Amino acid sequence: MPAAPDPRAPGWSVGVDIGGTKVLAVLLGPDGQVARSHRTATLPGPDGLVASVTTAVRALTGVHGVPVDALAGTGIGVPGVVDPATGTVEHAVNVGVEQRFGLAAAVASMLGAGARVRLENDLNVAVLGAAHTVAPPSARRDLAFLALGTGVAAGLLLDGQLRRGSRRAAGEVGHLTLVPDGLPCKCGQHGCVEQYASGGALDAAWPSTDGRPAPLVLFEAAASGDPRAVEVRDRFAWAVAGAVRILVLTCDVDHVVIGGGVSGVGDPLLDAVRAALARETLASPFLASLRLADRVRLAPRDVPVGAVGAALVGRGEIV
Ligand SMILES: [Zn+2]
Repeated sequence: MPAAPDPRAPGWSVGVDIGGTKVLAVLLGPDGQVARSHRTATLPGPDGLVASVTTAVRALTGVHGVPVDALAGTGIGVPGVVDPATGTVEHAVNVGVEQRFGLAAAVASMLGAGARVRLENDLNVAVLGAAHTVAPPSARRDLAFLALGTGVAAGLLLDGQLRRGSRRAAGEVGHLTLVPDGLPCKCGQHGCVEQYASGGALDAAWPSTDGRPAPLVLFEAAASGDPRAVEVRDRFAWAVAGAVRILVLTCDVDHVVIGGGVSGVGDPLLDAVRAALARETLASPFLASLRLADRVRLAPRDVPVGAVGAALVGRGEIV
């Protein structure tokens, strides 16, 4: 029987994924496996975030008897514009932070001497966590994480490095035009991908009446043959396929991993997107040669990719 892992051994880290409503944290072992996870409600605002993160870190390390200063580090993923070099975040309106705030330093001072804290954007930690789950490891260098939530955006791992962009705007595919003169978007443009391929778009097109997530209700109605549901589903899948096509044609990533709330639909979503991609290849030998449908997959349900990616950032795997 193998010996139990020693929590004081080097290489343990904590990853904290801050979302609009919940904070999910994991304790990651030196073997890259999740030893324990912790979930709590997001307390918004600078002070709230510091409290949420430190509570999660203490809960995870306390149970395992890992001194915070013995950790390889703590990584935090936050939905906002992040400068990893300074550990600051701004424009994180969903979690109540607008002005630039030094979240990493604030958390480090709360955790005490010796704590190493690193900060990264939420999509960047998600793409790192998603890559961590892809086999074989040689296929982990070029990958996009396409988040279908309230909006649409992607995290990009290219040549094994995060692509953040000169203005931290790499991967904002949700605001590329999909439909000329289409639906107005909050960004000021019309016909953006986000207006057709997001969970928010599905909520508007097929409102849930029984409290369950709208995407789930829609895909069930389509599977049961409701012709209007089939139409809405197929248009949605066509729009998601458009985002996949953009990511593959601009970055030639090996995998586009679909995550975000809509991915909870599971295989029916994957099937619909692959079918939409296959339809597009019928008229284009060029697209057919790129095997788009084969590159799409869903984020694993059993691995919290954002928190795992944050833990990889925490132990300094990506700088
Ligand atoms: Zn837009």
